[in-house]
Amino acid sequence: MKNIIFLAPPAAGKGTISDYLVKNYHYEHLSTGDLLRSEVASGSALGREINDLISVGKLVSDELIIQLVSSKLEGELKNKPFILDGFPRTLNQAQKLDEMLNNLHIDDVVVVYLDVSLDILLKRVLGRVVCPDCKRSYNLDNPLLKPQVDNICDRCGAILERRADDNEEIFKERYQTFLLSTKQIMQYYDDKKLLVKVDGTKELNLIYDEIESIIGISTLTGKRGEK
Ligand code: AMP
Repeated sequence: MKNIIFLAPPAAGKGTISDYLVKNYHYEHLSTGDLLRSEVASGSALGREINDLISVGKLVSDELIIQLVSSKLEGELKNKPFILDGFPRTLNQAQKLDEMLNNLHIDDVVVVYLDVSLDILLKRVLGRVVCPDCKRSYNLDNPLLKPQVDNICDRCGAILERRADDNEEIFKERYQTFLLSTKQIMQYYDDKKLLVKVDGTKELNLIYDEIESIIGISTLTGKRGEK
């Protein structure tokens, strides 16, 4: 199975697809946004600095995020198939990631770009609620992605919350930040022939099918995950 780098605007569906791959194929899911929010929740001085940036839709420094990802790749994620969600977000991060992967002799990687238009993303952001404990994401406007019991996480029973940065004003700032940096990163991976575009507005099961064939599941095992 190939390792996956998700390149996608906020609320494109990276979290939902990652949950599916974790559940069915035992991928390790590394979301840099989740890592940063945990640091914020810890109340540390670093967490307060991070919160000042996240809360206005700005990126944290490359140095910090590279350090976080590097220690995960060399630690918990070592020798496991992984999904990078939210990283890289700048060209510098992409170049540093290459160095890390080279050093770890990891070359089985695909970059999946989830393509979703701004109006659909905004609708998804406004309907999104997340579990503060297990990080699972839900969408109140999508019957397939709603929690079974209102406001309660299906997986761990915690009370669901809205993310502080999931509002229209901050979303638009996050989206602009995404557009500015992503063009360069897409070009970078396209030149390396690693980039695959997936229509993120298709029915979820069709997206799962497409991703499975991209990472080589159907050819390897001949069977698909439980949708
Ligand atoms: P996300 O959950 O991926 O939407 O990330 C939430 C916020 O965390 C972003 O708006 C950024 O402020 C910060 N963040 C996440 N990943 C990165 C990254 N790779 N580089 C810089 N900032 C990041």
